[in-house]
Amino acid sequence: MANLSLRNGGAAARIAVIPGDGIGKEVTPEALKVLRAVAAATKRSLEFVDFDWGADKFLREGVSLPAGAVEMLRDEFDAILFGALGDPRVPTNQHAADILLGLRFKLDLYVNARPVELLDERLTPLRDRKEKDVRIMVLRENTEGLYVGVGGFFKKGTADEIAVQEDVNSRKGVERIIRYAFEHARKNGLKRVCMSDKSNAMTFAHDLWQRVFKEVRQEYPEIDSRHLYIDTLAMEIVRDPRQFDVIVTCNLFGDIISDLGAQLAGGLGLAPSGNIHPGRTSLFEPVHGSAPNIAGKGIANPFGSVLTAGMLLEFLGWKAEAAALHSGVKEALFKNYLTPDLGGIKKTTEVGDWLAEFVSKAFAP
Ligand code: ATP
Repeated sequence: MANLSLRNGGAAARIAVIPGDGIGKEVTPEALKVLRAVAAATKRSLEFVDFDWGADKFLREGVSLPAGAVEMLRDEFDAILFGALGDPRVPTNQHAADILLGLRFKLDLYVNARPVELLDERLTPLRDRKEKDVRIMVLRENTEGLYVGVGGFFKKGTADEIAVQEDVNSRKGVERIIRYAFEHARKNGLKRVCMSDKSNAMTFAHDLWQRVFKEVRQEYPEIDSRHLYIDTLAMEIVRDPRQFDVIVTCNLFGDIISDLGAQLAGGLGLAPSGNIHPGRTSLFEPVHGSAPNIAGKGIANPFGSVLTAGMLLEFLGWKAEAAALHSGVKEALFKNYLTPDLGGIKKTTEVGDWLAEFVSKAFAP
């Protein structure tokens, strides 16, 4: 299991829970069930406080992220467990942008950690790849780049329209994510860090990435550091994923490469992620969205949310507990205790019950 930079390492923690929309409301309760079971089995104290932020509240009250929410989360909670946001009744997805991007930016969660880990060889679309061949930590810069919303239109709606979207990269922002990648490798005994950019075309923004990478790597001589253009990385990660331990890249490329990685490891239903600022309140969410096409049917796969809860526990410094959640999902896969997206017949709640029992037994005397 990876070490994701401790929040408190103590025996008690307060967690804010934002299930959100669609299947977020179905998978998050299962992750909570498993977290409660592991806390009870290990005599840890986990306190959960629920927040009903999402499309229903937005449509009812016009409120997405309530005033004072960011400060409250920052000051009163160790971590946030998040479900998913998105609802066909809000076609602009305004509430999702306000809540999720709002929290990422305002809590300054500059690391988006998306582990790509094959838990069962049957799940990868790649031929002849085993579990050990696909084990990569993708670290995406999460607060800058093309996502900052700097830009504008000129002559909008005319034949001469111009649209501009700025790619914002600060020295501080680039340095801290690259440094986090090397620190992550060092703490977890990983030997290789690959920085990916498009500095041959983006000659200003990614020139900065190049210079910072060359500087920071000097401090980590024991780590094999390498650079690949993002297009080459996309090819190489499919051709031979064994080449990579840690990948660090900008906001946009990280978004794309981590979805590619999620598919290499079995698809969206299984992929966890963390939005992290080491030492501060951080937010953990499955990579999948609200999946309106299956919401309300009770068949959503809770593995992504449970593995996300595992990342949250690692962040708290609860290594054995995190490992138990991870083993539970592996064992459920091995035993074919699965929801329909993975070819099974189980309901979301049945899988959650099974995992809660597994983790309880894992700590039984
Ligand atoms: P959003 O607009 O909130 O991003 P979306 O449906 O466009 O939602 P995702 O939910 O990320 O995007 O996933 C796309 C599809 O993958 C879903 O429509 C669903 O069929 C499938 N999927 C995603 N997550 C799960 C899951 N946990 N269990 C089962 N199927 C899933």
